[in-house]
Amino acid sequence: MALAIFGTLLYHGIVDYKLVAIGLVLGAVIGVPLGNVAMTAVPQRTALSHAFGALCVTLVGTAEFYLRAPDIPPFMMAVLSLEVILGSLTFTGSLMAAAKLQELRWPPQRPVTYKGQNFVNLTFLSLAIIVAAILVLHPEQTRLFPALIFIPLIFGVMLIIPIGGADMPTVISLLNSYAGLSAAMMGFVLNSKLLIIAGALDGSSGFILSVIMSKAMNRSFTNVLFGGFGQIQAAATGQEEAKPVKSATAEEAASILSAASRVAIVPGYGMAVAQAQHKVRELYDALTKRGIDVRFGIHPVAGRMPGHMNVLLAEADIPYDKLMEMDVINGDFPQTDVALVIGANDVTNPAARTVQSSPIYGMPILDVDKARTVMVIKRGMGAGFAGIENPLYYLDGTLMLFGDAKNFVGAIVRELSGGAG
Ligand code: NAP
Repeated sequence: MALAIFGTLLYHGIVDYKLVAIGLVLGAVIGVPLGNVAMTAVPQRTALSHAFGALCVTLVGTAEFYLRAPDIPPFMMAVLSLEVILGSLTFTGSLMAAAKLQELRWPPQRPVTYKGQNFVNLTFLSLAIIVAAILVLHPEQTRLFPALIFIPLIFGVMLIIPIGGADMPTVISLLNSYAGLSAAMMGFVLNSKLLIIAGALDGSSGFILSVIMSKAMNRSFTNVLFGGFGQIQAAATGQEEAKPVKSATAEEAASILSAASRVAIVPGYGMAVAQAQHKVRELYDALTKRGIDVRFGIHPVAGRMPGHMNVLLAEADIPYDKLMEMDVINGDFPQTDVALVIGANDVTNPAARTVQSSPIYGMPILDVDKARTVMVIKRGMGAGFAGIENPLYYLDGTLMLFGDAKNFVGAIVRELSGGAG
C-alpha cells in the first residue's frame, strides 16, 4: 500500500496535492480505529474494508465514464461496466454482511427467504447486464449510467439477505473475491498493471478460499448462495431443553485430566472471547509435564474467521505441530481419554451428522463425542453462532464445566500444579 501511495504521489498527472493530503488524513482518521477492533470483530471489519474498496472502485469507474463518454471503445465500456456492477453489488453486499455479523437489529442474522427469490435476484442481475450491453453499443446514452450503479446496489442487498448462520464466512470471502475482481477491472480502465495484478490475486485467492470453506462445511457453492441456509433454526432447537446435564468442578476436571494419557483440546469462539489462549498454554504445559499427550483439534470454521484458532494458539506459543486439522484428529478421538472443549459449540455439535432439519446438517464436525470423556468449558447453556441446541451436552460421557474459559482453565491449572506440588 505504501508503494502504491508513493508511486501515485510521484505521478505527474496530479493537479492538486491538497486534495491528496485531505484524502490521506481522512483515510487515516477512519482507518486507525478500524484497525483497532477486537479480534472477534475482525470478520465484520474485513467486510467493511471490502465495502470501502468496492465503493472506491465504483466511484472511480463512474468518474472515468463521465470523463470519457461518449468516446469509449466497446471493450473498455464492457470492462468499465463490469467494474461498476461488481463494485456496487460488493458495496451493499459487504455492508449487509458486516451488519449481520455485528448482529445489528437490521438486517436479521437469520436467512430471509421468500418464494421466487432466486427469480427476483436473477432479474436484477439480468437488468444490470442489459443496461451494460446497451452502454457498450451506445456509450453516448449517459442517462442510462446511473442504472448501472443502482440496480447492482439493490442486487447486493438481495444477494445477502437469504444468507445467514454458518455460511457468512464463506460469503465474506466471496465478497473479497468480487472486490478483487472489480479492482482488476479498474486496472484495465486506468491502464494500471499493478491494479490488474493485485486485483486478480485478490479475486482468485478469495474465490479459492470460498471453495475451501464450502468444502470444509460440506456445502456446494450454489447451496451457500441460494440455499437459504439456517432458516429452520426454531425446528432444530427446543427438543433437548428439559434434560439435565452433568457438571463438574475445576478440581474434578483436573483429576480426570491427570488420570488421562491422551487429551485432545478443542478450542472455539469462547476461547477467543475470553482471551484464554495463554491459560490454555499453561494447561498444555502442566499436562505435558506429567507425560500426557496433548493435541489440539482445529476446525476450519472454529471462531469467527479462517485461521482464528491457529492465530490465537500461535500467539500463546503453543507448538504448531500439536495443532491437528479436523480430518487428522477425527480418527484419534476413539483412542482419546479426554476431549476438552474450550468455548466451542457448533463445531462439535453431533446434530450436524444426524438431524436433517438442523441448519448445520452436513457440516463436518470434530467428533469429540467419540472420546471416552468429554468436558466442555462454557459459561452456561448458551447457543453458538448457529443458534441451536447441542445434544453433546446431554450425553452420558459429557461433563459441563460452567464458567468463563480463562477463569476455568486457570482454575484447572492451579489444581494441577497444587496436585503436582
Ligand atoms: P460457537 O458455536 O459460536 O460457540 C461458542 C460458544 O462459546 C458459545 O456457545 C458460548 O456459550 C461460549 N462462550 C462465549 N463466551 C465465552 C466465554 N467467555 N467463556 C467460555 N465460553 C464462552 O463457536 P465455534 O464452535 O467456534 O463455532 C464457530 C461458529 O461460527 C460456526 O457456526 C461457524 O460457522 C461460525 N463462523 C465461523 C467463521 C470462521 O471463519 N471461522 C466466521 C463467522 C462465523 P455460553 O454462552 O454458554 O458461554
